[in-house]
Amino acid sequence: MTSVHTTITRDPQASCDTDLAAGPWVFDLSPGYGPGASQADLLPDPVVRPGQLPAAYQQMDEAELHRRIRAAKQTLGDRLVVLGHFYQRDEVVQHADFVGDSFQLANAALTRPEAEAIVFCGVHFMAETADILSRPDQHVVLPNLAAGCSMADMADEESVEAAWEELVELLGDEPGTDGRQPVVPVTYMNSSAALKAFCGRHGGIVCTSSNAATVLEWAFERGRRVLFFPDQHLGRNTAKAMGIGLDRMPMWDPRRPLGGNSEQALREAAVILWHGFCSVHRRFSVAQIEQARATHPGVQVVVHPECPMPVVDAADAAGSTDFIRRYVAASSPGDVIAIGTEVNLVNRLAAEYPDRTIFCLDPVICPCSTMYRIHPGYLAWVLDGLVAGEVRNQITVDPTVAEQARVALERMLAALPR
Ligand code: SF4
Repeated sequence: MTSVHTTITRDPQASCDTDLAAGPWVFDLSPGYGPGASQADLLPDPVVRPGQLPAAYQQMDEAELHRRIRAAKQTLGDRLVVLGHFYQRDEVVQHADFVGDSFQLANAALTRPEAEAIVFCGVHFMAETADILSRPDQHVVLPNLAAGCSMADMADEESVEAAWEELVELLGDEPGTDGRQPVVPVTYMNSSAALKAFCGRHGGIVCTSSNAATVLEWAFERGRRVLFFPDQHLGRNTAKAMGIGLDRMPMWDPRRPLGGNSEQALREAAVILWHGFCSVHRRFSVAQIEQARATHPGVQVVVHPECPMPVVDAADAAGSTDFIRRYVAASSPGDVIAIGTEVNLVNRLAAEYPDRTIFCLDPVICPCSTMYRIHPGYLAWVLDGLVAGEVRNQITVDPTVAEQARVALERMLAALPR
């Protein structure tokens, strides 16, 4: 296993992000509360900013960090649950009680009502969702507050409110003769709590990458158009698979009036796509798929729907992280599978199924660089704090925002097939 103190790669040219070739603490020195944070979060006091991890934890050797994490978990017992996202590094995932995607993990936490602390080894919006869904007396902890999501940051509340005002001015806000609203907002789970609350207030809903089509059907029963944010690719891939033409999917650029569209294009739109994307999944290309097919005849290609549409079209299958896991589980010994998603998940699947050839479509190492900020040093530090009776890096969503966001999340749960 890679040492916790080594970097992803020593060669900056072999990584998608030069930060990843820096030392683990240098990497954490970016200023601020951390990307992906909802503006509506109540800041912990004092806010521990990146780079402020006590020196003792920065200097601790790897074996000691793991020993402290295990000891703290043993001391806390059922009072603690540690959640690890599929994209998290192995040195952290090995300590997780549950491993899954963001929504699976928020639900997993609900199965542990006796836990006083939920330590979420993922990114900011995931910890917010866990806080929204957990009991008020449970503390949700994000080990490093700088672990955010660049996609979530691409749709901030102010820009979405401004877009909504423009759309209401153009299209009105009264239901038509068919009883449907002019526009229904749909936010991907990968968004701040503030945007989930926005959807709750405006008759909208939340979706995940595994239920986006069901959620869009729900939205079209109630609206003539959908405003989909922040991920244009998930919106486009899902709507296209439902038979909606690309000519009815204008893109909304928040820096331009009417998002850069004509009034007619917005009137005729079915899905208005926000100009957001995942920096990890955007890297996958048709050329990589062609290369994989040329090098490995018979290779099966499976990608995440956050990948651009031409990549999804060129793949053999596309679906959520959980879909990809199930796809690999259903394959046979000897199969060759190229995967278009975050490299930590791909490497874990390759290790889990050594009798198959499983590799990442992107030859350049590209982990989710913000999720990578959950270093075992931070995990040891927050767990030691809990043992000492101190909750460090707690994520608390403002109660009003949480209540409105819960409405949008509950609509999603109600829309899913039973
Ligand atoms: S992989 Fe992409 S969408 Fe997921 S947390 Fe990282 S930046 Fe955000």
